[in-house]
Amino acid sequence: MATDTAPTSATAPTEAAVRAALSRVNDPEIHRPITDLGMVKSVEIAADGVVSVGIYLTIQGCPMRETLTSSVSEAVRGVPGVADVHVELDVMSDEQRRELAASLRGGQAEREVPFAQPGSLTRVYAVASGKGGVGKSSVTVNLAAAMAADGLAVGVVDADIYGHSVPRMLGTDGRPTQVENMIMPPEAHGVRVISIGMFTPGNAPVVWRGPMLHRALQQFLADVYWGDLDVLLLDLPPGTGDIAISVAQLVPGAEILVVTTPQQAAAEVAERAGSIAVQTHQKIVGVVENMSGLPCPHCGEMVDVFGSGGGQQVAEGLTRATGAKVPVLGTIPIDVRLREGGDEGKPVVLTDPGSPAGAALRSVATSLSRRERGLAGMSLSLTPTRRG
Ligand code: ADP
Repeated sequence: MATDTAPTSATAPTEAAVRAALSRVNDPEIHRPITDLGMVKSVEIAADGVVSVGIYLTIQGCPMRETLTSSVSEAVRGVPGVADVHVELDVMSDEQRRELAASLRGGQAEREVPFAQPGSLTRVYAVASGKGGVGKSSVTVNLAAAMAADGLAVGVVDADIYGHSVPRMLGTDGRPTQVENMIMPPEAHGVRVISIGMFTPGNAPVVWRGPMLHRALQQFLADVYWGDLDVLLLDLPPGTGDIAISVAQLVPGAEILVVTTPQQAAAEVAERAGSIAVQTHQKIVGVVENMSGLPCPHCGEMVDVFGSGGGQQVAEGLTRATGAKVPVLGTIPIDVRLREGGDEGKPVVLTDPGSPAGAALRSVATSLSRRERGLAGMSLSLTPTRRG
């Protein structure tokens, strides 16, 4: 660009000098140079010494955007000949995020996710909800315990970074052990469980951004020694976050189980959460309505504490959105034994299987474990029998 500041052009910085300065800027969270993380989109140097730097954020609305912008500006401003710095922010594509996750693995070959292999017979259910506190983790834990009690080999991945309450609800404070390169999951009530909480000191809350979360989930799925599982349940964080997309990428065959309360507002968000499955082409296996009424302690009649019909509404909405029938698989009443069981690490399906909540959860577990998987696209590994 020819401007009247042309005389300074003789001293305009080189791109190499600007990139060298950028290589000294670390991503505030990953603690590695942004140049190594593929976060520098572009460097443009005008003749007047004004430098424009394009930076890729790892995710939209990245909480570190301001820190990153000011450290980039500061670093580039220090390069001799730079008159001014403009930082333009963009967001990485899914592909770029995958590359970043790969580079964070330090060049190690990506271990395969066994559940994503065509011959895998493990049914994977990703348990999702629109918002927190609707009982998603309680449902996950009880379904897992009920299936294990029925003799199935069951695993749970607690990927709810905000809640990670699964170990407590299953009554385990066991830590995973490492054998060779594999992580061995602790087991409780016959359920193998791995939780993000097992990897954070003092169960501290985790604030991880997209690539880190993707990496954590990938590790839980690929580096944990699960053995031959019949069913794997993933307890996802509430809402329609990055993690749902990661699940779709890592285990394309995972089916979504939506948990909602009967409340209209909760139902609306659940519907939104479920409709992400439409974008990711995942199947929604059904809806579980939790906290569906409280049996009156005096007369036994149901009181609709959180309204009614939310589960049905979500199922209908998702049926419309996906074009495939999404059923309500069960309605779980409010039951103090369910909450106590969660607090004590003894799932109600085991301690009180005949209670209304216990029975309803067991029935959902049965319908999920009995489902036949379609054979389309699956290798049957048939070998001819010997005549004899
Ligand atoms: P989420 O995983 O959706 O955040 P949780 O499973 O942690 O929800 O449940 C939130 C709280 O509500 C927990 O204390 C749990 O014990 C309680 N709870 C969940 N479902 C029921 C129910 N049907 N009856 C009574 N308490 C319940």
